[in-house]
Parts: sequence; structure tokens; C-alpha cells
Amino acid sequence: MDKDTMESEVRTIVDAASARILTPREGECLVCYVFRQLGEFGCDGTHRFALTFRDRTAPRATALMERLGSMGACCCDCEVFNNAYTFASRPWITGAAFGADIGTEFESQEPVDLREEFGINESPARVFYLCCQFVRRGSTQPCPNWVRMGRW
Ligand SMILES: [Zn+2]
Ligand SMILES: [Zn+2]
Repeated sequence: MDKDTMESEVRTIVDAASARILTPREGECLVCYVFRQLGEFGCDGTHRFALTFRDRTAPRATALMERLGSMGACCCDCEVFNNAYTFASRPWITGAAFGADIGTEFESQEPVDLREEFGINESPARVFYLCCQFVRRGSTQPCPNWVRMGRW
């Protein structure tokens, strides 16, 4: 294989992988989706993930950006978590392996006591996952993992 072929194959694989990651999962809510993408790619100072979500799952939700703006997330995706939404008291967190397929991974140096941190009945874990509790298709509301921040 010459170098060009190899590079383009590598690029195809990377493209396919990021396309898969970028696609909202079936029933995944806006906020879990943006959270997952930010963990993967970071914020680039725009609403690219919120917009991707809207375009792919709720193209008619034209007021979404306005709504996010009114909650303090006017300029970029990470503001959603700085200003608009925070974890509910009992988000769906699991240490089980299926979380890798449906959730966003967290890693920690020390095992986290899931019962104490999140009130869930699982043994402490070093790697755990935030799993979306799902919304109906076309919705731009967050699932019960998230609550509005107190005041903005
Ligand atoms: Zn940002
Ligand atoms: Zn969710």
C-alpha cells in the first residue's frame, strides 16, 4: 500500500467513526447529546452540536437557539452546562458495561461511590457512564438527567 492510499483509508475510518459519534442516538436528548459531544470533541466556541442535534432530529425547532440564549447559553455549547442545565439529583449513571454503548463515559482516578454521589444502588466504579433517559423524537427538551440551573 502506498502512502496516499493508506492516508485516505485512515481518513475514511476516522470520518466514519466521527460520523457515528456525531449522530444523535435513538431517543437521546439534546442535553445528553451535547454533553457527550463536548466530552469527545470539546467546545469550539459555537453551537455546532446543538445545531447538529436540531438539524438531525428536530429541524422544525427553529426557536431552539433563542431558547438556549434566553437560558444563558447564547454563544456556545459549553455554556449550556455553565449556565443552563446541571445534573438532576439522580441522573441515570451506571457502572455496567452496557453504558459504553448508550452513555457518556467518565473516568476517575479513584473509584467513585455511586451510591453516595448519585444515590444509585451500584458498587463504586472507576469508569461509569451517564445514560440518557430518552425523550420523544423531535423534542429538544432534556431528559430527566438534567435540571435547569437555579437562576439566570
Ligand atoms: Zn464554549
Ligand atoms: Zn438525556
